[in-house]
Amino acid sequence: MGRVAGKVALITGGASGIGRATAELLAEEGATVVLTDLQDVPGEDVAAGIRAAGGKASYFHHDVTDEAAWEKVVGETLSEHGRLDILFNNAGIGGTGVPVDEMSLDYWRQTMSVNLDGVFLGVKHGVRAMTETGGAIISTSSILGMVGAPNTAAYSASKGGVRLLTKAVAMECAARGLNIRVCSVHPGYIDTPMVGGAIQRGGPERREAILKSQPMGQMGEPRDIAEGVLYLASDAAKFVSGSELIIDGGFLAR
Ligand code: NAP
Repeated sequence: MGRVAGKVALITGGASGIGRATAELLAEEGATVVLTDLQDVPGEDVAAGIRAAGGKASYFHHDVTDEAAWEKVVGETLSEHGRLDILFNNAGIGGTGVPVDEMSLDYWRQTMSVNLDGVFLGVKHGVRAMTETGGAIISTSSILGMVGAPNTAAYSASKGGVRLLTKAVAMECAARGLNIRVCSVHPGYIDTPMVGGAIQRGGPERREAILKSQPMGQMGEPRDIAEGVLYLASDAAKFVSGSELIIDGGFLAR
């Protein structure tokens, strides 16, 4: 308990899946959590659940592709809580399995807009907010930010971009003498609504194929990723920056 006590954390995509589990865990560990999403009803419910359990949380509607919305959310966090210590850039959209030669430019741009532009804007406004105080910025990439797979061109490109955006900004912060650590987390298959949607579209064979591809025989849980984010966000990781934390049940080890 208390591994991020007294810290203020902003979490995007906090209404669902990995973001929700991370909001709940950081709050359990003493952080004040500001969670944001497009999904207002579940987002408010997550914040209310955290408060009912004795934690501190509030929810904001926030489209991560909108720079003015970032200015508003970060500004309100600073005016309400006085500081921002942890930013978890987690909101993202999955792929729908389109072959590259059938992929529309609109689909490519939409994926980049949420998964990469959204992370860029978070990093930009996070660094501004943390310049005086320091902090930790963690962004959700994927195993598909490290290796390729068929029919994932836009998703993989966006997540590979998150991986190297992270390293560039980690070096930039270090060179400027800012006490801001910047890391990426790389989930394998995690049982969330995003993967549930892919399974629904692909049917029972898709579920079988995913389970068969798991070295440990099962998908991970959102809490498995939250535990890694908690470590990266905490002072236990004070010498960790530019790093990529893979949490994938061994998927990339073969
Ligand atoms: P999830 O359950 O679908 O949660 C993602 C949340 O982000 C949803 O509430 C979603 O709202 C929201 N969101 C989407 N676009 C947004 C935008 N423009 N602005 C603000 N919020 C937005 O998915 P998850 O599995 O937890 O995924 C979280 C992150 O992990 C994503 O970046 C994903 O790519 C990454 N990841 C997941 C897995 C996995 O196996 N689950 C593996 C590797 C990486 P909507 O429902 O309206 O879209």
